[in-house]
Amino acid sequence: MIEIMNRPRKRLFLTLILISLVLATVSSYGIWVVSMPGLSNISTYLPMILGTLLATVILAIACGVIGIILAILGFRTLGIFQGLAWSAINLLFPVAISIGKLFDVGKERIERSFIEVSNHLIKQKGIMVQPDKLLIMTPHCLQQESCPYKITRDVANCHHCGKCQIGDLVTLAESYGVHLAVVTGGTLARKVIKTIRPQAVLAIACERDLTSGIQDVFPLPVIGVLNQRPFGPCCNTRVNLAKVEEAIQNFLPKDISRKNKDGALT
Ligand code: SF4
Repeated sequence: MIEIMNRPRKRLFLTLILISLVLATVSSYGIWVVSMPGLSNISTYLPMILGTLLATVILAIACGVIGIILAILGFRTLGIFQGLAWSAINLLFPVAISIGKLFDVGKERIERSFIEVSNHLIKQKGIMVQPDKLLIMTPHCLQQESCPYKITRDVANCHHCGKCQIGDLVTLAESYGVHLAVVTGGTLARKVIKTIRPQAVLAIACERDLTSGIQDVFPLPVIGVLNQRPFGPCCNTRVNLAKVEEAIQNFLPKDISRKNKDGALT
């Protein structure tokens, strides 16, 4: 119940991104007006060239934002709109965070809203991959702090002692035949992606890491599942396993079911 109440709606991110678009449009117009006299002195064509360039960029971003809104409303959008949508997000996200600050909206709240929007866009695409092309990536802080086993090298080193959820995740990944990696940061995450070459990623992390990770690996589709921090950030974190399983099922073809340890379907 608390989780539902704390979950920001997609409209927070959409509102901020729309305000950012308006600001970008006004700023571009301001830049054009201010630079016009100087440019005219050099060449009569320069103001027109700059105006066309700025108008094209703003139009492309606006198409991207419209693409996001249409997708959220349930309309199927063309591939070009999806590409523009992610470019618009990358460009306007820092502006949206700054605007949020002005209105006393916390960065984490905006990031949570962004992750909801991003998950929605990915789910709506209906991407299906084979199990060996799906990678679950989880942060090191999910491992029990005192655990001596080097699971970042190989998750099979986990002894399933039950003190943290890594053992459950290993079992879950094995039962669906998907990859699981525990990473200590962005560098290792990129290395794992390069080695496994997944077609889709299910990332478990905090708001900040999920937001930057989703944007970093684009166009690789990522479903983000937020971790829970009962002991504060980066220490013995947890995750809702039902959500992880739901996200796995979202990416896998419907005829692939979970297998128990003996290989039987459940
Ligand atoms: S479940 Fe695995 S990773 Fe977690 S504490 Fe036990 S052995 Fe270590």
